[in-house]
Amino acid sequence: MKMNKAVNMRPRASAARPVRANHVKTAVNRSASLPSTDRLVCQAAAVAVEAPPAVVAANPKDLTQRHAAVSKYFPGVLGVDDFIQRVEIALCGYGFTGRNSIACSNLCRDEITAVLKDKIEHSFGGSFNTNGLGGVLTCGVTGIGAGLSHSPICADSGRERYVFFSFPHIAIDSTGTLANISRPGRPGTSCACGALIKCMGELKADGVEKSCKVPGVHDPLDPEYSILKQRLARRIRWEQQDVNSMDLADITKAAERMITDDLEYLIEKAVDTNKADYAVVTGVQIHNWSTNFDDEVPNLELVWPTKVYTVVNGKTTYLDLTKIPSLTPRQLQLLAQASMGSAAEPSASAGIVSSVSATSTITEIPHDYMAHRLGAADVKGASVLDGKPAYSETIKAGDAPAADPAKPKMDSIDLNDMTQAFRSFSAAFSNPSFVETFNGSNGKA
Ligand SMILES: [Zn+2]
Repeated sequence: MKMNKAVNMRPRASAARPVRANHVKTAVNRSASLPSTDRLVCQAAAVAVEAPPAVVAANPKDLTQRHAAVSKYFPGVLGVDDFIQRVEIALCGYGFTGRNSIACSNLCRDEITAVLKDKIEHSFGGSFNTNGLGGVLTCGVTGIGAGLSHSPICADSGRERYVFFSFPHIAIDSTGTLANISRPGRPGTSCACGALIKCMGELKADGVEKSCKVPGVHDPLDPEYSILKQRLARRIRWEQQDVNSMDLADITKAAERMITDDLEYLIEKAVDTNKADYAVVTGVQIHNWSTNFDDEVPNLELVWPTKVYTVVNGKTTYLDLTKIPSLTPRQLQLLAQASMGSAAEPSASAGIVSSVSATSTITEIPHDYMAHRLGAADVKGASVLDGKPAYSETIKAGDAPAADPAKPKMDSIDLNDMTQAFRSFSAAFSNPSFVETFNGSNGKA
């Protein structure tokens, strides 16, 4: 299979949907055909029902085929090492390096996002993270601002520099199947992103409209997930998309647009461009792993870039990563190895496979590094069945701390809360300035 030639990385082309009046339909209730989405884990069946794989890489050992299969969903996708070296070159051209900037990374909480995090941090240093389920931003202006206050300050200009990275993620396995991933040390098929898959199932079953909420309302036992779902629902409603025709790639792209816009809104509130320059790098992280993590089929990590820009002295410049050439496989492997530390050194790194296409150099992520990084390098060890070491008895603490059942819980409401709520409610409706806001006089006579 030849590489897809038509790779135009026009930022956010898919976001510009034509607006059609009355396009939003109440979604047909299809809950009967969907499995339970109670758990935030693989719902492989849900994906299979909605999105049979349209593209299959016939030979999973052929990296070019696999790149082409992912490119059908994400045109312009790059190997993660190729991506990060291009970003480093692009940002350096505008004054941002790992030595003079603070990186802020926003990824999903899933441990498999660690590979991209390692690449970011190898190039741009330890990052302040604002991670949330599905990559949703819930840290707010204070959270973003906290990261910025840790930035190095340029000795010459006195200015600070921030680099924001933001990427929701998706798995597309080595055969080209959406959502599927095989995790180290865990038999069977798992899925990613679990949070976005759960959102997709519930939005299709309940309809988008029902899932839209007034900002500020969330489930106290599930704050992050409920905010992710309502932000996504409002985005899909605003874009006038039919959720029932969206597959996981479409949902992930919509989530990326929503999260990127939220990030830019928070930056607007938190960053003072009189004293700081910043860069924004966004897209989708794609795990293109073997259907069996431990077999000899290479595991690949890819990135679909959507926006790369810098704001220097208040001036915004959009950058095009496709105009920066790939490094050779040898060059990329040298850089990649440095980002993986000793875990990539074993003999396995000598047999790393690579492929060079018209658009990107793709290199395998070494199995040893990933198994080590994801905490499944030796799942047979340390079994309690083999007998505990003697110290395990002597290190036991005394009695367990006493529990007070009356302590406020995250979803409990007590009398004081009710009294306070009632006072606030009464005050709001007896406050003339509040009422005048509704009258349109904005508190002025
Ligand atoms: Zn996730």
